[in-house]
Formats: sequence, structure tokens, C-alpha cells
Amino acid sequence: MEALLYEKLEDQKVRCALCSHRCVIAAGQRGICNVRENRGGVLHTLVYGRLIAQHIDPIEKKPLYHFLPGSHSYSIATVGCNFRCRFCQNADIAQLPTDHGGAILGETVSPEAVVAAARQAGCRSISYTYTEPTVFFEFGLATAKLAHAHGIRNVFVTNGYMTPEALELISPVLDAANVDLKAFTRKYYKDLCGAKLEHVQQSLRNMRSMGVFVEVTTLVVPGLNDDPEELKSLAAFLVNDLGPDTPWHISRFHPTYRLTDRPPTPVKTLREAREIGLAAGLKYVYTGNVPGDTGENTFCPACGEVLIERRGFQVQKLRLKEGRCVKCGETIEGVWE
Ligand code: SF4
Repeated sequence: MEALLYEKLEDQKVRCALCSHRCVIAAGQRGICNVRENRGGVLHTLVYGRLIAQHIDPIEKKPLYHFLPGSHSYSIATVGCNFRCRFCQNADIAQLPTDHGGAILGETVSPEAVVAAARQAGCRSISYTYTEPTVFFEFGLATAKLAHAHGIRNVFVTNGYMTPEALELISPVLDAANVDLKAFTRKYYKDLCGAKLEHVQQSLRNMRSMGVFVEVTTLVVPGLNDDPEELKSLAAFLVNDLGPDTPWHISRFHPTYRLTDRPPTPVKTLREAREIGLAAGLKYVYTGNVPGDTGENTFCPACGEVLIERRGFQVQKLRLKEGRCVKCGETIEGVWE
């Protein structure tokens, strides 16, 4: 299928404008994501409707903690990614085309079938997740439009590397996003992900200004992005550029894929990072991948009352009334209905 968002150049080359790599692709070649191919001067997406994963997940698993808590999200993915993170948690599908000679695998599914399955399962949203939704943008957009027509919300779980043009197209039907802000140094993004930090920062600002509800996740990797000064800078960016109401998830690293030379993140480091976020002025900071930790809960920033009690991906108590603290009436940022 012909791709959206590209321009034709001389000698049958094309320039893709879907993500901030903006690949210039010669005829017969693919872009960095390995799922967009130039066929005779026309850019094609190779993953339209080729789903490698379809699951029903708690929305807390995305993670989104301030978006329809306790609801289920119909979660889909194709193969492919525009990043090369050495610690990729889903490399078997995200890096499949790159690691296996360009292979594109997946069941053929229509947007209508995805929306029907989501409705049948009682899901309140569809999540475009597991791999990078930007690289299956055309299918995501078609599905998201149909989902909205049926009263189902849409969620991107993303590295935030889409272009402003792509965001303009998807934002009218994109209700929420969990965006990875993987670190706060250019070196980390370049060396570990093959990308540029500033494009992710700009996407975060753009999402906010386009009315997409945003939560941010940072995977804290021992020795690579756990310097307290770096975490302070990252938290200050969130406060200043996105606002103190932005939920921040600090997630625990486990050795995997091409980053196996270091241990899981100590729980102490995660708790210290949470304190850094709170001290910077963020109202909602969560520790992730540590079931049972107090940092999984939502506390009222005004009176300290526990408003949402969680364990793992389960909501155990919900004590909000019309988006407000039941005790003091403080408004809590989020999409609650
Ligand atoms: S989506 Fe990104 S990585 Fe893929 S071809 Fe387009 S610009 Fe390149």
C-alpha cells in the first residue's frame, strides 16, 4: 500500500516524513525502520494490516495511570521500529525485520476487525503498542478513526519520534500517549537508540499543545542514565515544558537483548529518582516494574490522601469523584470518564 507522508525526489528517490529520521530512500531500498520501501519512486508501507500481536491488556500496563483507570485496552502491533535500543524489551517483534533479513510477519487483519474485536471484548480504548506505532501509522490512523466513530479511545505507546506532520494527522483521533523519554543526554539517544533527543522533546511539546493527554516513562538503566543530575534535568524539563501535572513513570531495567552486562535497576535507585521528580515539582511520580511499591499509588498532591491504590497492573481502590480528591476536592489531572 502507498505510504502517507513522503515526497518524491529526483532519480526515483523519496524522502519519508513520517518520523524525524526523514530517510532519503533510493528505489528498491527501505528506510531505517525496515518497513517502508521505495518501489520505483513510490513509498510503500509493508505492514498495513499485518498484525504480529493482538492482546487485551489493563490500561495500567501501557503504563497509563491517569486515563480510564481499571479499564481494558485492545492492544495491537506490527513488526518494526525506527529505533535500535540496545535494551529493547520487545526486540523479537520490534527488531524482527532488521535482525532477520527484512522479514515482515503478521496475520492479515482489517481496521474493522480490530475495532469489532475491541468492542466485543468491552475495551474502552485501542492501544498501538509493543513496537513503535509510528512505523505502522497508516494502519493505526485508519483504525483510530474507525474506533472514534464507535466511541472507543486511542492510545499510542511511543518513542515520540514522529514528525509534527504525522502528529497533525493523528492528533484529532489520538486521546492519550505514553511517551518514552529514555534519558536526558544526546549521547545516550545517539549511542543506545540511534536517535536525537531534541526531536522527542519537541514531540512531547507538540502533543501537549495539540490536546493529547500525555504520560512519560523513563527506563532507568544502571550506569547509563541514573545520574541524579541528569534525572533532575529531565524532571525540570517535564515541569517547565509539559507542566507539573504530567505523570512520570520511572521504570525498572532488566538485562535483555543487547544490554546484558549490568544488573536490574536497584529499587533504591528508583525510589531516589521518584524523590527527585517530586522535589522538582512533579505531582505524580510512579515507580514501575516494582509490584507492591508505594510508588505505584496515586496520592492527592494537596492533602496526601491515597486516591488510586494499585498492585502491579491491578487497580485495588479508586477514590476519585468526578476527577477530584474525595477528601479535599483537589482536581487531579487525567481522563477519568
Ligand atoms: S518512518 Fe522513519 S525510519 Fe521509517 S522510512 Fe520513514 S523516516 Fe525512515
